[in-house]
Amino acid sequence: MSEEGSRGSRFPLRLVQVAKAPATSKSAVLRPQAPLHQAHADAARAASPSGLGLDSADVRRRMVQRLQAAGLQNDAVMAALSSVPRHLFVDAALATQAYEDTSLPIGHGQTISKPSVVGRMLELLMGGTSARRSGSLGKALEIGTGCGYQAALLARLARQVVSIERLRPLHEKALALLGPLNLMQLRLVYGDGMRGHPPNAPYDSIIAAAGGEALPPAWLEQLAIGGRLVAPLVEPRSQRQVLVVVDRHEGGYEHSIHEAVKFVPLKSGLGN
Ligand code: SAH
Repeated sequence: MSEEGSRGSRFPLRLVQVAKAPATSKSAVLRPQAPLHQAHADAARAASPSGLGLDSADVRRRMVQRLQAAGLQNDAVMAALSSVPRHLFVDAALATQAYEDTSLPIGHGQTISKPSVVGRMLELLMGGTSARRSGSLGKALEIGTGCGYQAALLARLARQVVSIERLRPLHEKALALLGPLNLMQLRLVYGDGMRGHPPNAPYDSIIAAAGGEALPPAWLEQLAIGGRLVAPLVEPRSQRQVLVVVDRHEGGYEHSIHEAVKFVPLKSGLGN
């Protein structure tokens, strides 16, 4: 990669904003950005209509209790889901649905996954060899930042997170929403996540929020030994999208196929 973006990519890292990215760049050049507290304050105001109590930790706790009743059990994942205010990541008009187990539109034809699926994927990631040993997702890569909700969860479970988004408006939305949370271990990248992000590879944990017909080779190459990848994938025979888990061992890769899911398509290249 040309990668001015790769320079200064040591952790801990601040959230940084995209400068003018050359159309051909694989992951855009990033630069420090102006304060974002205004956008965040607006979003918080809009998403928390008085009387709904949506910013209350109780609402999230109840969501987590429902997820536990449905079978999710990883304590660290539950703690992360309890702490990240999901309503701040969706439009004000949808804020009342933010703690229901439903996927919601985030604009540009994309969706934020339902909490049970987010929780399930994070739980699968926490089951990787390195993660089980250390209790952390270590160095994590997310493909498909979207509005940034899952990136915020990852930042609570990992030592370092790189999250890539190919649609510029969503990348910028995530910057605005995540900036004020001051997640020093999180880096947002505008780029084509099908190429992964070589400057910080290898990754102990890789998670994709968009599904294609095959796993991009870059993801497998950038997975650390002992690391785990969780992604939606279209099964060739049934044409159903399922969750796939890939573990990398000293001797190679091991795949397992899990339940059917419905994610937006993984697309190559950048979009506006
Ligand atoms: N984790 C997100 C969910 C976003 S939906 C959240 O919490 O909101 C999936 C996202 O993947 C979309 O925003 C879509 O634009 C993005 N996407 C699809 N293909 C991509 C690619 N090749 N690289 C990066 N992002 C991609």
